[in-house]
Amino acid sequence: MAKPGNLTRSHHRLPKTSAPYNPKPNPPMTLRVVKRAVLCFAKTTSFPMASFVSSVTVTPRAKLRGVVFDMDGTLTVPVINFQAMYRAVLGDEEYVALRSTNPSGIDILHHIENWSPEKQQKAYQIIADFEKDGLDRLQIMPGAMELCGYLDANKIRRGLITRNVKDAVDLFHQRYEITFCPALSREFRPYKPDPAPLLHICSTWGVQPNEVIMIGDSLKDDVACGKRAGAFTILLDETGRYEKPEYAKVEHKPDFKVSSLKEVISLLESNFDLTP
Ligand SMILES: [Mg+2]
Repeated sequence: MAKPGNLTRSHHRLPKTSAPYNPKPNPPMTLRVVKRAVLCFAKTTSFPMASFVSSVTVTPRAKLRGVVFDMDGTLTVPVINFQAMYRAVLGDEEYVALRSTNPSGIDILHHIENWSPEKQQKAYQIIADFEKDGLDRLQIMPGAMELCGYLDANKIRRGLITRNVKDAVDLFHQRYEITFCPALSREFRPYKPDPAPLLHICSTWGVQPNEVIMIGDSLKDDVACGKRAGAFTILLDETGRYEKPEYAKVEHKPDFKVSSLKEVISLLESNFDLTP
């Protein structure tokens, strides 16, 4: 069992976070409580045992009605070299300074928002060039198609939120002939880690945020967006990079952590009731 505050590499539920409520009942405790209650009740009443037991044992699991994915690094194999992109936008000196004050990662879009229009335009062009280069080498993440097929078979909604541009989402949809709806790109403001895009998807679907799970490879964008909206979250950490101590004290921790999308189907089956 993981120590509180630490992230684990397993897909088992992580220590208590700000999740709406624990989706996984604790069987030993439930059994003990029921056993004690049944014994106590049997001594004092002659009511039908079955109805009493069922009223105690029903511990509903969390309903899952929709899954929202990040795109780059989650549905697609990471091909954008973000550190090189940040360095190109900021210059060496500012990059090093900003990196040291933001150990969990640089929010480049947010950072350039207050720049002069001229400087900002230049920065957007650099970012667009990196993203275009990434598009040319686009690959679907192993396990993504199987997971989407599983969600479709269970009639669970699929949405997408990315800080990339709409053209990239369109290309992804076309290339893999798979559509996420709604799919919100950088043109939707405010973008992640603001919870607005996720709340917008929930309201479009007509579901509550705590009936939705957000899956992404970024703690500062995807997990923060999901937790701030009140949704469940899965952090995809393929390389174990979030094992580093600097991530132990982040504000928003994921409910679950996986090292591959291939682990997600069994995670959903163990922890949620899939309800269209
Ligand atoms: Mg990502």
